[in-house]
Amino acid sequence: MKIGVIGAGQLGRMLALAGYPLGLRFVFLDQGNDTPGEQVGHIIRGAFDDPAALAELAKQVDLITFDVENVPVDAVRGIAKQRPFLPPVEALGASQDRLDEKTLFRKLKIPTPEFAAVDSLQDLQAATNRIGIPGVLKTRRLGYDGRGQYFIRKAEDVEKAWSTLGTVPLIYEGFVNFSREVSIIGARSTRGEVRCYPLAANTHSEGILRHSIAPYNNARLQKSAETYLKRLMKHFDYAGILTIEFFVQRGQLIANEMAPRVHNSGHWTIEGAQTSQFENHVRAILGLPLGSTAAVGHSAMVNFIGAMPTLEQILRVPGVHFHSYGKEPRPNRKLGHCTITATSAIARDRALRALMKLKVS
Ligand code: AMP
Repeated sequence: MKIGVIGAGQLGRMLALAGYPLGLRFVFLDQGNDTPGEQVGHIIRGAFDDPAALAELAKQVDLITFDVENVPVDAVRGIAKQRPFLPPVEALGASQDRLDEKTLFRKLKIPTPEFAAVDSLQDLQAATNRIGIPGVLKTRRLGYDGRGQYFIRKAEDVEKAWSTLGTVPLIYEGFVNFSREVSIIGARSTRGEVRCYPLAANTHSEGILRHSIAPYNNARLQKSAETYLKRLMKHFDYAGILTIEFFVQRGQLIANEMAPRVHNSGHWTIEGAQTSQFENHVRAILGLPLGSTAAVGHSAMVNFIGAMPTLEQILRVPGVHFHSYGKEPRPNRKLGHCTITATSAIARDRALRALMKLKVS
């Protein structure tokens, strides 16, 4: 069985590494040079909307999935008719536009920050009047890892925000004064079996995930998060891994965004859960029985962004699991991560502090 993956980033690489023991083979489509995916699978070099490259991918594989969200939905509708294409194209489309995504959340009664579409300075002024300041102006499409965002903290920021981002369709969101950020990750198979991982608590800075701890034990929030995730899965007749990122404000979940793919805040599951998100994604899209999502101990995952400690430094940390993506260092680029699984939350927090203290070069 050969699986085609659109996008050959680190997520695709980890999918392949999880799939090989199951006897699967992987073919990637990506136009980048020196991608993490090609270290572990065959690569077809081409843009995500290149019809010839997509046709070649469909020819070579039995089933197609993706590891990035910016796959143009119109370009892949054709191959989605030739081969099973999972997660569904509709879920991919909804995740690409923050306005569509939040409108869907609202329709499914999943709480969101207050929001408004912004296509002009007048719209932005009306939105800030109705929703209030502070708030965040975001591009509707192609925003990730904090790109395409402007925090409006005072009335004078409104025009500056508009002149910085105003060339593309935007969304204005009320600022959520959250106590923490959490994410729920779950798998749904083509047979309708669903399993959810324990919540992870995530720390971002400059819009990029820095570290996660899991499980974040809060039975009430876990139950609400699973309810919302299952609602979304049912809506899309979903198959694969689905993620929702939430803010926690006054003990309630407020959805920020969804990702129809394996997620950085689930990397801890490779060593910290009975079955990793990567293996469960593969099982789910192939209609195989899902593996247990139970946590094994207490995990901390730290991203290396822009620069990394040396291998020697990392491997000196007792019990560390290191994943280097084999990428050239560049500012804000995710180069690798490491996870520690401890027997208690106290030991995990100690390990997290040790990991964060590692000097990068
Ligand atoms: P996003 O690109 O939407 O995932 O946003 C990246 C990060 O910016 C989030 O993880 C939050 O830390 C912060 N952020 C985004 N939207 C809001 C909001 N409405 N209120 C407060 N913080 C936000």
